[in-house]
Amino acid sequence: MHVTMVKKRLLSGQPCQKCIQAEELLRRRGLWERIDEVVWADESDPSSAGMKLAAEKGVEVAPFFVVKDGGDDVVYTSALKFINERLAGSAQSAAGGALGESELSELRTRFGEKDPAGLIGFALDRYGADAAISFSGAEDVVLIDMAVKAKKPFSCFTLDTGRLHPETYRFIDQVRAHYGIEIIVMAPDQAALEPFVRKKGLFSFYQDGHTECCGIRKVEPLRRALAGFRAWITGQRRDQSPTRSELTTVQLDAANSGKDGPLLKLNPLAGLTLTEVWEYIRENEIPYNPLHDRGFISIGCEPCTRAIRPGEHERAGRWWWEEATQRECGLHVGKKRD
Ligand code: SF4
Repeated sequence: MHVTMVKKRLLSGQPCQKCIQAEELLRRRGLWERIDEVVWADESDPSSAGMKLAAEKGVEVAPFFVVKDGGDDVVYTSALKFINERLAGSAQSAAGGALGESELSELRTRFGEKDPAGLIGFALDRYGADAAISFSGAEDVVLIDMAVKAKKPFSCFTLDTGRLHPETYRFIDQVRAHYGIEIIVMAPDQAALEPFVRKKGLFSFYQDGHTECCGIRKVEPLRRALAGFRAWITGQRRDQSPTRSELTTVQLDAANSGKDGPLLKLNPLAGLTLTEVWEYIRENEIPYNPLHDRGFISIGCEPCTRAIRPGEHERAGRWWWEEATQRECGLHVGKKRD
């Protein structure tokens, strides 16, 4: 494959802003080396190589990418589309199959508890865009930050339950723009959601628990998302909840399947504390949900999350009307649900 990027030089002699942003995006994703050739479309020179190529391909915007790959040339006028269709899967390893138990154990030993970036780098080397970060909370942006710095392709998805805080929706978009990544937004299955809401209303979880609502709004969309990947990377930590006390950094997902069957589940932050996570966020100046500044620690759906008081456990603000041992949304259960 041969890739030509066409950038526009304005009459002022400066490159166009969108061209600068596209190059920054490629560099942040570690994909700049995949551009074989850059040619300039000089606004002041219709005979410049880029202007001629634009006329030949009938393109009127910049930047654009011309991909030669055997057949007809393919032109992309969107850098994101070009990356996702042509580059994002390129790091998928030929040896990207499922890991055996001895390899899982070896990985736990090799990366230990305090090298999340190393473990993420391993996953992206092996699975590339078939490894997905599930993004929702503060921890997950740490994962994204480490993945971007690894300069290797990866995927990212989030679950839009339809009940998130407005701040969270804006935060998702802020992260997308900040890192120049695509975030796949998974929605609940309307065929299941509509009859549920019609029958039980919008707040049934306060009466009969969150399991049914989370099952429709979170667990099923998660299962659907994961079916397209070989590995997923979560921001879970062991000290978040009594239900996570046995969490390991590397495991096979017992509740979900990937595109080839067994699904590798990585919890690179399993051994970190909340304080260590926030040290990373501050030191690296990475974006975080503004709700954290208002006393929210663990943030989920708006009706099921409240700010916590000093001294309360970080997950005390999630489903606070239920028992602490029941406060999981089903995303991280250890066995398959019916
Ligand atoms: S957290 Fe609350 S609103 Fe969100 S899916 Fe679960 S029960 Fe429903």
